[in-house]
Amino acid sequence: MAELKRLSESRDLTRIERIGAHSHIRGLGLDSSLEARDASEGMVGQLPARRAAGLILQLIRQGKIAGRAVLLAGQPGTGKTALAMGIAKSLGAETPFASVAASELFSLDLSKTEALTQAFRRAIGVRIKEEAEIIEGEVVEISIDRPLSAAVGSAAPSGATAPGKTGRLTLKTTDMETVYELGGKMIEALGKEKVQSGDVVALDKASGKVTKLGRSVGRSRDYDAVGPHTKFVKCPEGELQKRKEVVHCVTLHEIDVINSRTQGFLALFTGDTGEIRAEVREQIDTKVAEWREEGKAEIVPGVLFIDEVHMLDIECFSFLNRALENDMAPILVIATNRGITSIRGTNYRSPHGIPPDFLDRLLIITTQPYTEDDIRKILGIRCDEEDVEMSADAKVLLTKIGVETSLRYAIHLITSAALACQKRKGKVVEMEDISRVYQLFLDVKRSTQYLMEYQSQYMF
Ligand code: ATP
Repeated sequence: MAELKRLSESRDLTRIERIGAHSHIRGLGLDSSLEARDASEGMVGQLPARRAAGLILQLIRQGKIAGRAVLLAGQPGTGKTALAMGIAKSLGAETPFASVAASELFSLDLSKTEALTQAFRRAIGVRIKEEAEIIEGEVVEISIDRPLSAAVGSAAPSGATAPGKTGRLTLKTTDMETVYELGGKMIEALGKEKVQSGDVVALDKASGKVTKLGRSVGRSRDYDAVGPHTKFVKCPEGELQKRKEVVHCVTLHEIDVINSRTQGFLALFTGDTGEIRAEVREQIDTKVAEWREEGKAEIVPGVLFIDEVHMLDIECFSFLNRALENDMAPILVIATNRGITSIRGTNYRSPHGIPPDFLDRLLIITTQPYTEDDIRKILGIRCDEEDVEMSADAKVLLTKIGVETSLRYAIHLITSAALACQKRKGKVVEMEDISRVYQLFLDVKRSTQYLMEYQSQYMF
C-alpha cells in the first residue's frame, strides 16, 4: 500500500509538470444534449466527429460498448488523438488514457502480445479505498506494564518495543479524556515515534500506528481542518473518532510492475518494464477481484488509443478480438489514415488493413481537414496553454503557416518562437520570431524539396 501511495503522489506531480501536445484537451466540448459547441474544453471544430464521439460516450455510460471498438479514420493531424483523449477526459479525471502507435509494438524488446497486454493494462484503472479509524488528541500520559512504567519515548529501552506487552495511553481529545489500552503493536509504534506527554498525535486504531502531529499549545485544536476525506463518527461510548478514507488510483500495469520482482517500482519511470510473468498478473487479478468483492476497490475502465492501426498484423488483431471480451476491457479507440491496404501478415487486402471480423466490431468516425478559422483558434488555445503572448500579426502569420504546412508543425513553432523572443529579450512573440523559426526548422514539404534538390549528396 505504501508503494501505491507513493506512486499515486508521484504520478500527480509528473502530470502537473508536463505540458504535452494534448494538455489543452479537457473533454469533447459538448453541451447537455451532446451537441458539439464550436470551441469548448480546448476542442475546436471537427463538429460531426465530436458529435459522434458524444454518442459513443453515451454508449459507454450505459454499459453498451462491450465487445466493440471505435475507429477514427482521417488524415494526419486532424485530431484523432485529441478526440480519443477527449473521450477519456469526459469520462472523468481518474480515467486512465494510454496511447501507443502500432509500429512501437514491433520495435520494443517485448513480444507484440506482451506489449499489447501492457498497453491494455495501462488503460485499466483501479480505485483502491482504504478506511482508517483515526483518533487525534493530546497525549496526557503513557504507561506501559513491566518492564517499562514511565513515559515511552525519549528514553524507551528496547524492552518497550517487544510485542505482547500491554499498557495504557491517555489521550485528551476535544472535550474528553480517553484512555486506550495498548497492545504490543501500539507500544512498538510509540517506541518508534518517541511520543511524550504534551504531544498531539493521530492514532490509527487498526494498525496501532501513532503519528506525531506537533506539540500542544494549550488550546483545543481545530479538528475539522484535518482533510477533505475526514468524517466524524460518534461512537456509542461517546468517543471522538474519525474515519479517514484514503483513495489511491493506479493502473493494473502499475500494480503489475511494482509486484514483479525482477523489475520493481522504478521501472515505471524508465518505461523499461520487461516481460511480466503470467503468474504475477494472475495473482494480481485474483487480488483485485477479492478487493472488488469486499468493496475495497473499483475498476475504472480507461481509454486505450492505438494509432497507425494498419501496422498491426493478423495475430495482433486476434489478440484484440479476445481482449475486447474481457469484462475489465478498456474502451479501445484505434486510428488510421490508410484506405484499402493489405492486412499485415496475410496476402489479403481490406479497408484500413483491418480483417473483416474485426471491422465488424467497429464504430467508425471520420475526421476532416481543418479550416483556416479552426487552425487559428487551435493555435490561440495552444498559446494560452504554453503561456505564450503573441501579437495579432504573428498569429495571422502562424495561422497562414499552419494552413500551408500542417497544424502540428505550426503548434511546434509556438515554443521555439517563444524562445527566439526570449533571446532578444522581448515579451511578446512578434512576426520576426515566427519567421526566424520558420527558416530554422523545415516543415515536411520544404524538407522533401530540399532532399530532392540535394539528393546526390545523401546516401541511399
Ligand atoms: P496523427 O494521425 O498524425 O497521429 P492526429 O489525427 O492524431 O494525427 P492530433 O495529434 O490529435 O492529430 O492533432 C495534432 C495537434 O492538434 C495536437 O496537439 C492536438 O491536440 C491538436 N488538435 C487537433 N484537433 C484539435 C481540435 N479539434 N481542437 C483542439 N486541438 C486539436
